[in-house]
Amino acid sequence: MAKISINIKEGKVAQEADLIIGIDLGTTNSLVAVMENGHPKAVKGKDGKNTLVPSIIHFSTATDVLIGDDAKEKLVSDPQNTIYSVKRLMGKSYHDIESFEKYFGYKIIDEDQDSLVKIRVKDKFYSPIELSGMILKALKHRIEQSIGKPVSKAVITVPAYFNDAQRQATRDAGKLAGLDVLRIVNEPTAASLAYGIGIAPEAAQKIAVYDLGGGTFDISILQIQDGIFEVLSTNGNTFLGGDDIDRAIIDYWLEINNLDDSVLSDDKNLSQELRLLAEEAKKMVSLSQNSFKRKLKFFNCQISPEKLNELVLSIAKQTIDCCKQALKDAGLSTADIDHVIMVGGSTRIPLIKKVVSDFFQKEVHDKLDPDEVVALGAAVQADILAGNQKDILLLDITPLSLGIETIGGLMDTIIPRNSKVPAKAGRQYTTSVDGQTNLKVSVFQGERDLVQHNRKLGEFILRGIPPMPAGIPKIEIHFILDADGILTVKAKELRSGVEQKIEIRSQYGLSEEEMAMMLLDSIEHAQSDMDTRALLEARNEANNIILSSDKFLEQNKEILSEEEIKTILEYVDHLKTAVKGENKDLINKTMDELNVYTTPLAHRALDHNIADSLKGKKVDG
Ligand code: ADP
Ligand code: MG
Repeated sequence: MAKISINIKEGKVAQEADLIIGIDLGTTNSLVAVMENGHPKAVKGKDGKNTLVPSIIHFSTATDVLIGDDAKEKLVSDPQNTIYSVKRLMGKSYHDIESFEKYFGYKIIDEDQDSLVKIRVKDKFYSPIELSGMILKALKHRIEQSIGKPVSKAVITVPAYFNDAQRQATRDAGKLAGLDVLRIVNEPTAASLAYGIGIAPEAAQKIAVYDLGGGTFDISILQIQDGIFEVLSTNGNTFLGGDDIDRAIIDYWLEINNLDDSVLSDDKNLSQELRLLAEEAKKMVSLSQNSFKRKLKFFNCQISPEKLNELVLSIAKQTIDCCKQALKDAGLSTADIDHVIMVGGSTRIPLIKKVVSDFFQKEVHDKLDPDEVVALGAAVQADILAGNQKDILLLDITPLSLGIETIGGLMDTIIPRNSKVPAKAGRQYTTSVDGQTNLKVSVFQGERDLVQHNRKLGEFILRGIPPMPAGIPKIEIHFILDADGILTVKAKELRSGVEQKIEIRSQYGLSEEEMAMMLLDSIEHAQSDMDTRALLEARNEANNIILSSDKFLEQNKEILSEEEIKTILEYVDHLKTAVKGENKDLINKTMDELNVYTTPLAHRALDHNIADSLKGKKVDG
């Protein structure tokens, strides 16, 4: 797909390939990556130094907003107006976060327990979506500066355990930043892609992704087969990470200086400065394995590699407990795991690598920068979506259900929403009218019970069905959704072998908004849909019974009395009237009455027919 873009500043018209960027929107740090000469690369800021953008926003006035490194400095000087860890609030209500509200240094609004949280800065309110949107905008700006071109399409990663609301919130944040979010990808999936695991079609592999960041720990067990990533289990601790090591170092410093933590609560600035210094000490000691020694005011700040290891070990042990649980939930043992991937800044600590490697009894993948690996994988996924890696399967799930229209305008779902692609499913149908030779197959996408509320993708007619009584033909309808999101629908009448098929491109047919509207719609209308469905089903059944009653009368005239025929016709008339109305209970009741009356007559007819056919049978002597 080529696109024409006009650079308004320079007045140049340029034809550009579709560039899709990969974004890791992290709790502590975020970053953006893009493919460069076939390799994913994280993008540096103007200063050419850092690829990481701290996920921090500072408001000095409502319009004067700092993001990233500049905002991080304000954590010390202006904590009330400095927002961090927004990711923890995405898609959450106040009720969800009540228990850890104290963790945040800024004001969270609690006026309505069940609506999504808002954050108050000065006299304005911001939703976590808006705040994340600001971070995404900064990342978008960063890459546009770097490549000198506008970008509009992105893949954004989220933790594997993120629910629908959290994923949707992340998509919306992208939209606010002016990004068309083509895909939300699980962070562990992205990490695997960055290492090239799961790209070539190979035998099934099981992967453990160990992600120890600043404030959170996630362990995900994935299975990859034929390009499909399946999350077998996730575990972790949303309040365990590098920050805890920093805090442990500060506690240790208090101890060796014979101070208690009242000095910190008395002096917020000192406390922030110590935090930054502890982090610096941790990084320095873990990488150099030399002791750290510094003075901060009256504080003697020193730590040896041995002491640091002792502090790190207690964190590492907790993460291993989570790994054990994740394996148990996936029904696996460490021997089943083919690859272990290290993600997150804290996995730079050699002792963490060693503990993890010992536990899984395997060397861990750590060649890529653990801070960048998720963003790099997002860029790989983006490249696949852009169609630049032709022989690679797309990894996806269908966002909306796919199905066909059945009698009465009902949606009959064949591939449900959230199915993994490629996907295949089929079902048998039959005709509703005697001698029917054509069958129209209309394909729809959506969650509502009535096709008129869903989106029509296409239709075709299966012709040349040999005439048979209603209900006798066996028509098999098959949906095959391939890895590119292309749907092929096949219909085949099994008795005659008559066949027909069409291809439908559905994946990018709907905008995000339309998709969100349709999903919302299906929730709002669930009750009325159910009622309508019940009425239509009752009508269908009643019409079938009316038809078969007519047939029954015609075929069994000689064994029925005048009285019986008259009564059946009366019941059928009642039913015909009921069908025209809107009252499904009345239809069902009338149907039952007719059934109760005709059942003994049908038995009599059956006995008669059997006797008849036996009479006619010749016995060979
Ligand atoms: P998140 O996924 O939560 O956004 P990151 O993956 O960016 O977090 O990890 C940030 C954490 O990694 C911080 O706690 C930071 O101190 C820690 N970290 C980064 N480099 C090192 C290092 N060399 N040694 C120890 N910890 C480090
Ligand atoms: Mg991370």
